[in-house]
Amino acid sequence: MTETTLTLNNGVTLPALGFGVFQTPAEETVAAVTEALRVGYRHIDTAAAYGNEREVGQAIAASDVDRSEVFVETKIWISDYGYDATLHAFDKSAGKLGVEQIDLLILHQALPSRFDLTIDAYRALERLLADGRVRAIGVSNFMPEHLDRLLAETSVVPAINQIEVHPYFQQRELLAKDAALGILSQAWSPIGGITFYRDGAHGSTLEDPTIVDIARAHGKSPAQVMLRWHLQQGRQAIPKSTKPARIAENLDVLDFELSAEELARIDALDTGVRGGPEPEQITLDTFGREIPEA
Ligand code: NDP
Repeated sequence: MTETTLTLNNGVTLPALGFGVFQTPAEETVAAVTEALRVGYRHIDTAAAYGNEREVGQAIAASDVDRSEVFVETKIWISDYGYDATLHAFDKSAGKLGVEQIDLLILHQALPSRFDLTIDAYRALERLLADGRVRAIGVSNFMPEHLDRLLAETSVVPAINQIEVHPYFQQRELLAKDAALGILSQAWSPIGGITFYRDGAHGSTLEDPTIVDIARAHGKSPAQVMLRWHLQQGRQAIPKSTKPARIAENLDVLDFELSAEELARIDALDTGVRGGPEPEQITLDTFGREIPEA
């Protein structure tokens, strides 16, 4: 039986499946999040850089679901790294979301060439945690060496590392590192979105013959098989869709179980080819951009 709730290293719990809104246009975000809450998602993942925090907050405020039942996660963009700048970035995000407290606040990327700024930003997250402004803190796209550098200079072990994980890019060494440190791995592009909306290096995970074959055997869809693979391996996953049928489909993964052999067949699909930007190459020059005030 797969747990539908996961517990972070500080005891805070969250659903095993959340709802992502990267590339969801602001004007479609209220409808998408409203539908997600209606069909049962209780965790929304947004980011300052997505430009739709305000609409995420509007959908939560307008829904019948009590705010206390929705786990709200957002990310600080690199342009707001630095102790004071990151404290202010919390105010911007909380203001747009219309919430007093953010459930999970994470650093969107490491800045390898300015790790001093990354550390200062994380220290601001530690302050926000101590002050009760956030319930948990974490990171995203941190590689093993980034985690080592962070842990050497800060005191709170991140609760989460949100990283690219799908059948074609599995990052097993990083998953093991997260697990050894007590950090929950949260899979972005969990159904391989980046393999079909951006990455030209290989085909779509949705059309992979092995995944299609396993899906047929269970009377489920390829997306559902990939989400099940994450859950059975203990990862949190945050699929994104703006289409009501797919929003519901991606949550409907609790009525079947992949066998050990099926999990191994999916494990064997790893290509080692990353779809997203190389974490080591993130710089303020190439990726910096201003995050508007609330
Ligand atoms: P996903 O793996 O969630 O795939 C999303 C894509 O798949 C969209 O094009 C969507 O289109 C389509 N889709 C969704 N459900 C189905 C389905 N059942 N069948 C077929 N197609 C489907 O990729 P994302 O990159 O969006 O990742 C999910 C979330 O992870 C993001 O929304 C964001 O919250 C987070 N993320 C974080 C990053 C980071 O750097 N920390 C980077 C990237 C993502 P449609 O909407 O038209 O249904």
